[in-house]
Amino acid sequence: MTSDRERAVVESVPRGVYIDGKWREASGGGTFPVEDPSTGQTLCDVADATAGDAKTALDAACAAQDSWARTPPRERGEILRRAFGLLMERSEDLALLMTLEMGKSLTESRGEIAYAAEFFRWFSEEAVRISGRYSAAPSGGSRLLTMKQPVGPCLLITPWNFPMAMGTRKIGPAVAAGCTMVMKPAQLTPLSMLALAQIMEEAGLPAGVLNVIPSSSASRVTSPLIDDSRLRKLSFTGSTEVGKALMEQAAPHLLRLSMELGGNAPFLVFADADIDAAVSGAIVAKLRNMGESCVAANRFYVEEPVAGEFTTRLAEKMGALRVGRGTEESTDVGPLISEDQRGKVADLVDDAVSRGAKVHTGGRAPEGAGYFYQPTVLSGISDGARLLREEIFGPVAPVRTFTSEEQAVAEANGTEYGLVAYVYTRDLARALRVTEALECGMVGLNRGLVSNPAGPFGGVKQSGFGREGGAEGIDEYLSLKYAAIELP
Ligand code: NAP
Repeated sequence: MTSDRERAVVESVPRGVYIDGKWREASGGGTFPVEDPSTGQTLCDVADATAGDAKTALDAACAAQDSWARTPPRERGEILRRAFGLLMERSEDLALLMTLEMGKSLTESRGEIAYAAEFFRWFSEEAVRISGRYSAAPSGGSRLLTMKQPVGPCLLITPWNFPMAMGTRKIGPAVAAGCTMVMKPAQLTPLSMLALAQIMEEAGLPAGVLNVIPSSSASRVTSPLIDDSRLRKLSFTGSTEVGKALMEQAAPHLLRLSMELGGNAPFLVFADADIDAAVSGAIVAKLRNMGESCVAANRFYVEEPVAGEFTTRLAEKMGALRVGRGTEESTDVGPLISEDQRGKVADLVDDAVSRGAKVHTGGRAPEGAGYFYQPTVLSGISDGARLLREEIFGPVAPVRTFTSEEQAVAEANGTEYGLVAYVYTRDLARALRVTEALECGMVGLNRGLVSNPAGPFGGVKQSGFGREGGAEGIDEYLSLKYAAIELP
């Protein structure tokens, strides 16, 4: 940490496990370090929850479930609304905290705090709109009544790339629906979630509704909960590989699941597109969060007549961005999360270059401390290049060309993932045709950003299932019950 303010912001966060409304040391007394990826230095140590702590957290969630489910929806909504206000009020400190533990620029962290808070505002409004249906049986003589009820205690597991928003996207609908929870934040970025727990408490969330268990070993704390028949739901955001393992683990209990998994987003630019808009959209879709985003554009497909111009302009813009410590106001692109992650990005670039790719800008890690990697644009990507199949999770834009709409759609769909795709064209019929043909859960049409609390975020294929946000998001935390009523 380089300033008193940075130190004060880190010191203001409770470092314990948060169970049943109390901050405690981990039962084994252990801690683990949280690092600043822009310097590689330790920011602080955080309680290292044990399997015993996880069980205690679930005990608290189970004990609170009935009364929480009976709490009037308006009251649940008001708690979310107050938490929204507190998040916005403390946005500057929370943004700095996030930048310190995760690396993204302050501008991006402020954006994430606002995005995260919006899930609370959205679900504060949804809490009072949980409804059912009453209808006459087609044959007469009876009535059908459907109602929605909270699923019950949930386990929420979140990744490090959006330490606050991936949490509020789950906590918001769970609170609105009347579910209690145990939250396991990512080991690399637990501080934002601990700060959020403090805010929820201040907003009036009753003890036991939200419990937070940071841990240096995810499976040590999640496995006992998944194996506990009192748990009713698992909502996971993270890699497809871990998501599949968790599904296997959850199968014996037929646990209700939401899976927000990895992506490999194609970004299509047709020759009739507004190229200025496409380049600006590409910067957003590629570089938000330094490319460490499940919705990051992973592969660019540009129609041949405009490919040269698009690539040159993209390289100019990406090459001019300032790489640096996220805490500097002038920084555009912060560090990657870890040495390991930077190594993976560098390997993918080296692989593409060894197969003939041309580097237009970047292509290497700068010297010095921190896990920085230069914004990179590549063209001439061969079919076998690994970055066409794997999530890059870094500031690297590989550009390929296409000559027909059919080829563009086929290449875009040629992946096991199906989270999001981006399409730039001014032809309305083509825009709709291609949107319908793309195998994904979301499409950015002449827009490089799809994330919006009012929209149902989620994927198809190996990007998972379930939706977060939108009118659909709350249903992930509700069970449907139907009563057949005799009415002679
Ligand atoms: P990850 O390794 O799958 O980790 C995600 C979370 O799962 C972390 O809290 C992690 O804990 C935990 N975890 C890891 N192994 C586990 C296990 N065996 N049992 C239980 N929990 C386990 O993913 P990541 O590297 O943090 O995040 C990047 C991935 O998330 C990318 O693939 C990205 O596309 C995806 N993502 C998807 C969305 C979406 O909405 N679709 C949004 C954001 C990110 P530790 O921190 O202790 O490892």
